[in-house]
Amino acid sequence: MDILIIGGGIIGLSVAVALAKSQKQVGIIDGGFTGMATTAAAGMLAPGAEQLPPGPMRDFCQASLKRYPAWIEELEHTTGQSTGYWPCGILAPADTPEPGHHTGIWIDRQELEHQQPGLGEQFVGAWWYPDNGQVDNRRLTHVLRQAAQSLGVQFFAQETVVQIVQAQGRISHLMTHQTAHHAEHYILATGAWTHKLLNLPVYPRKGQMLALQIPPSAPRLQHVIFGPAYLVPRQDGHLIIGATSEDVGFQDGVTASGLHTLLQKAMATYPLLQNWPVVETWWGYRPLTPDECPILGPSPWPNLTFATGHYRNGILLAPITAEVISNYLNGNTWPETLNFCRWERFGTNVELL
Ligand SMILES: Cc1cc2nc3c(=O)[nH]c(=O)nc-3n(C[C@H](O)[C@H](O)[C@H](O)COP(=O)(O)OP(=O)(O)OC[C@H]3O[C@@H](n4cnc5c(N)ncnc54)[C@H](O)[C@@H]3O)c2cc1C
Repeated sequence: MDILIIGGGIIGLSVAVALAKSQKQVGIIDGGFTGMATTAAAGMLAPGAEQLPPGPMRDFCQASLKRYPAWIEELEHTTGQSTGYWPCGILAPADTPEPGHHTGIWIDRQELEHQQPGLGEQFVGAWWYPDNGQVDNRRLTHVLRQAAQSLGVQFFAQETVVQIVQAQGRISHLMTHQTAHHAEHYILATGAWTHKLLNLPVYPRKGQMLALQIPPSAPRLQHVIFGPAYLVPRQDGHLIIGATSEDVGFQDGVTASGLHTLLQKAMATYPLLQNWPVVETWWGYRPLTPDECPILGPSPWPNLTFATGHYRNGILLAPITAEVISNYLNGNTWPETLNFCRWERFGTNVELL
C-alpha cells in the first residue's frame, strides 16, 4: 500500500480519490463514528455568507468554491450519479444594512420580497451572494465512496486506529483493534477525533440540525437563506435547518433546547414553515481549531501528512484540500501561501499518544 488514510469523511474520501487518480495505491481506515461531520452538515458552499474576514482563509475558501463545478462534473461523470450540487445563490437577510464582514450585494426589502417572498418582517434587506450555493453532502459522500471504489481504493470499514506507531523518526505502522496496517505514507483525516491519536488542537463543536418536508403546495424556495438559522432547500423537497454550535465535547443526541432554539430562529426567518412536518433530526461534531483554520500539510514525521480541522467549511474546502494534499504527496513542495494551515503555527510540539 502506498498511502493509508485514517478517516473516511469528506476529507479522507476526497484526498483518496485525488491520489488514486495519480496511480497511487490508497486505503482508507474508518471507525464509523457516530456524529461524523460529513453526513451531518448542511452542505452550504458559503464563503461569502459565512462572513469570513479578509485573509488567506477566505481566499482559500473562495478558491475551493471556484473548483466545485469541475470537481462535481468529474465525480458525477465517473459514477453516473448526482451529488445534488446546486449553485442556487445564498441570501443573508439582515435587520440592518451595516456590512460587517459581508461582501455580497445589498438588496433592500422591496427587492428581497421580489427575490424571496415571505421572509420575517424584521429584515430590512439582505446580502446576496449569487456565486455561493449548496451540495447535498450525503449524496456527495455516497458518490465519493463510489468513485474511490471504482479507482481501486481499499476500504477498511468499522476499524478504529487506536495508535500511530513510530520508529526511528518515521511512522512505522497503525494499530487498530483488529490488526497492524503498514504503508509508505499515512494521512490523518480524523476530524473532531484527531486529538485522540496525537495532541493536535482539534476539538469537537457540536451542531444539531433538523429537516422539514416542504409541502408540494408551498411556494418554492429558490435560494439558501442564511439568517439567524440557515434554511437549505434541497431539490428532493426537504428543507434543512441548522445549526446549533455547542461546546459540550462528544455529547451524542439532539436536545429539547437545541431543537427549540433552531425552530424558533427558523420560524422567525421564514414564518411559513411553522406547519411543515419534521422528518429528521440529527447532530454532528465540527472539527474546531483555535484559529478556525484547517491543519494541512507536513507533520513532524516525514511520512505523515495532516488533513484535519476544517471546522465549519469542510464540505466547501474538500476539492482544494484534495488538490493540495495530492500535489504535496506527488512530490511538490508545500506552497508558502498555505503556511497559515501548517501545524507549527500553534507553537507547541506534536506528540503521538
Ligand atoms: C451541523 C454541521 C453543519 C455543517 N455545515 C457545513 C456546511 O454547510 N458547509 C461546510 O462546508 N461545512 C459544514 N460543516 C463542516 C463539515 O461538515 C466538516 O468540516 C467536514 O465534514 C469535516 O470532514 P472530515 O472528513 O474532516 O471529518 P468527519 O466527517 O467527521 O470524518 C472523520 C472520520 O474519521 C473517522 N475517524 C476518526 N478517528 C478515527 C480513528 N482513530 N480510526 C478510524 N477512523 C477514525 C470517523 O469515523 C469519521 O468518519 C458542518 C458540520 C456540522 C457538524
